[in-house]
Amino acid sequence: MQPVFDGHNDVLMRLWETAMRGGDPIAEFRDGIATGHIDGPRARAGGLVGGLCAIFVPSPQGPRPSFEGGAYSSPLAAPVDQPAALAAAIAMAGIARRLDREGVWRLCTSTAAIHEAIDAGVFAAVLHMEGCEALDADLYALDAFHAAGLRSLGPVWSRPNIFGHGVPFAYPSSPDTGPGLTEAGVRLVKACNRLGILVDLSHITEQGFWDVAEISEMPLVATHSNVHAITPVSRNLTDRQLAAIRASGGMVGLNYAASFLRPDGRDSAATPLTDMVRHVEHLVEHLGIDGVGLGSDYDGATIPAEIGDAAGQQALVGALRQAGYGEADLAKLCRDNWLRVLATTWRE
Ligand SMILES: [Zn+2]
Repeated sequence: MQPVFDGHNDVLMRLWETAMRGGDPIAEFRDGIATGHIDGPRARAGGLVGGLCAIFVPSPQGPRPSFEGGAYSSPLAAPVDQPAALAAAIAMAGIARRLDREGVWRLCTSTAAIHEAIDAGVFAAVLHMEGCEALDADLYALDAFHAAGLRSLGPVWSRPNIFGHGVPFAYPSSPDTGPGLTEAGVRLVKACNRLGILVDLSHITEQGFWDVAEISEMPLVATHSNVHAITPVSRNLTDRQLAAIRASGGMVGLNYAASFLRPDGRDSAATPLTDMVRHVEHLVEHLGIDGVGLGSDYDGATIPAEIGDAAGQQALVGALRQAGYGEADLAKLCRDNWLRVLATTWRE
């Protein structure tokens, strides 16, 4: 088994939804449930030892896009109010903290803490924010979330906010769908560099990507995106973007979302592991073996049935092994690259 430390999941959103319904999010992660993708028992079964756990304030679900003629184009989600986003984000940060206090997972702010948690057999969670609607333009809330353990953020999800613009979900589509960072977004990226917070480029427009590339002194990272040359969806990265990520010493986490993996762009769990291997091979070709990791999107996407959930994590590892990756390369892909990029970004 290769232990996997993963670049992106939405389990905190699911646990928050459980709490909103009056359920017990702590027991849900500790004891496990039948739905969703990640909980303690399934993570242990699949060798998923930790990952970046997103504070994500969901947009109201629009109608599913129709897939007429092999193409779709969803309207961009509406902006979310800051007070509502802040309330939800604080609740998710609180759930993350309580899971730590109860010993159900460990909230990590250093790679030493991640290693210790893994050695102790406790899920190593790093607090990430996916879309910064909860933050004010003066970034006071950023300092508060940093104090609460936030060590990674994506300025935007696939919707506009005061910091920038995300890509709408569209296939086929270039990621160049609109403007980039706002002036507040520029200040946010600089503040992240100062505080040692990773800036995640998944979901941002191509213009926003180049804006961050120009400003940021840290490795460029897309925590959960795939290859545009294979699956030309707006959320995937062009070879030009991959070259910039490589030049910065950054990395990309492979997203398991079927619609970002399948060349036909369909959102179907009947997606073979060979589609995932194909994206990894292209990423390795363009980024090098040190520039590729995993970024499952568990609890946020349709996952290929051969994996199913966190308990099936090793199915992908096995497919990569079968494709010729040796154990030293697998260790990099499965966790060591993430730990190296986090250590650089966190200035350890
Ligand atoms: Zn996402």
